[in-house]
Amino acid sequence: MPVLVMKFGGTSVATLDRIKRAAKRVGVEVAKGYDVIVIVSAMSGETNKLVGFVNETSPLYDAREYDAIVSSGENVTAGLMALTLQEMDIPARSWQGWQVPVKTTSAHSAARIEEIPSDNIMSKFGEGMKVAVVAGFQGVSPEGRITTLGRGGSDTTAVAFAAAFDAERCDIYTDVDGVYTTDPRVSEKARKLDKIAFEEMLELASLGAKVLQTRSVELAMRYKVKLRVLSSFEEQSDEAGTLVCDEEEIMESNVVSGVAFSRDEAKMTLISVADRPGIAASIFGTLSDAGVNVDMIIQNISEEGRTDMTFSCPVDQVARAEKAMQDAKDGGEINYHELIADENTAKVSVVGIGMRSHTGVAAKMFEALSNEGINIKVITTSEIKISVLVDRKYLELAVQTLHDAFELEKA
Ligand code: ADP
Ligand code: ASP
Ligand code: MG
Repeated sequence: MPVLVMKFGGTSVATLDRIKRAAKRVGVEVAKGYDVIVIVSAMSGETNKLVGFVNETSPLYDAREYDAIVSSGENVTAGLMALTLQEMDIPARSWQGWQVPVKTTSAHSAARIEEIPSDNIMSKFGEGMKVAVVAGFQGVSPEGRITTLGRGGSDTTAVAFAAAFDAERCDIYTDVDGVYTTDPRVSEKARKLDKIAFEEMLELASLGAKVLQTRSVELAMRYKVKLRVLSSFEEQSDEAGTLVCDEEEIMESNVVSGVAFSRDEAKMTLISVADRPGIAASIFGTLSDAGVNVDMIIQNISEEGRTDMTFSCPVDQVARAEKAMQDAKDGGEINYHELIADENTAKVSVVGIGMRSHTGVAAKMFEALSNEGINIKVITTSEIKISVLVDRKYLELAVQTLHDAFELEKA
């Protein structure tokens, strides 16, 4: 039997009624003759609640216990989904990550899937089971401890199963009916895309579009998984939603295909750093050792052997960055005058493979922002994206302005 992977996100399994609705969708595919692997998220809000419990109990928590606690939301939905399917006379069984087993690295809270043996579930399919319901987001480390894959990780579980079981398709059911030119909750002009190239989706995801976890897109690209995003709230045809596919499969596309954003960024500036060989290595090595995810970096013009260095990082890592820099200053490793944190910034990015062959995208972007009086604080570019940091209060305006400027509402 061909295998199909269907993933249901948190809002799609938020209540028993929604689990029933999702189970009916699964029933439709079973009736077509598929053996189905269903990946479920925790009911919406559950993972946040569990993370809150952890932080309240132990601010500097042991990451192994964080994973033990935070992974549990998915266990509930997996069992409920299997029961719901059984009530519909569909032979179904649930699996937690360790039972499959979903073998991961031991990087707790950000583990990577290394291997998913298929024999366990395959032999059940052989015995007549029609649906394997697997708890998303979790796995087991070489040490035998429960791990999680990072927020939004059930997408990655789904794609990894599709690759491991050579599935015909991996359908990601969520609360929007596909991938849009930008988050439809921020711009009402956002347009649903029928297709999007892996590379563009990868950039959009890593720049903040949380509709798919970045790692899931990476895996789909590497293992050539046919990946589709669609709504769990509407009746669906085989053509519904957005297909994430190879660039060659897309006939027409705009120069810019989407606008992504990430709301909670901080701009950090080290004032008057000694400008000597190795200084960048020691600053960013220190930050990396402290677990700070540095994104953009600018070194300013130096004068009399001193320079200013600016970088950005997630706003919830500011305290960690400040402590790491202070410790390095106290220890005499890095000499600087002052560290200024601007915690009110957001990052807005435009993405498109058309940028490889078109010039003027940056100029158009900067002009559009300036026409709205939005000041740009930091700029970075790569082959298919341009990102800027702006004041957080202008985030929505900036997204809408760029959506208009690049005429993304038009196909
Ligand atoms: P799930 O719980 O199903 O995993 P998520 O909340 O993780 O769902 O992802 C879906 C959300 O992603 C949408 O509700 C939407 O607000 C947001 N989103 C951000 N950017 C985009 C985009 N370009 N297209 C579609 N949705 C987007
Ligand atoms: N429940 C997890 C989260 O909220 C994983 C997921 O939903 O993909 O991040
Ligand atoms: Mg998600």
